[in-house]
Amino acid sequence: MMINVLEFFQSLPKRKCQKCGHDITEQADCYINICEKCDHPAR
Ligand SMILES: [Zn+2]
Repeated sequence: MMINVLEFFQSLPKRKCQKCGHDITEQADCYINICEKCDHPAR
């Protein structure tokens, strides 16, 4: 059974920032669990 790659990623639950709970979007690194703001605080 073939699984379309795009459908596979679309079926994944949205990641949320572990710190502020904001949705994480368009992250190239799939291991990231925090949003850019929390990842780069003082910028
Ligand atoms: Zn955050």
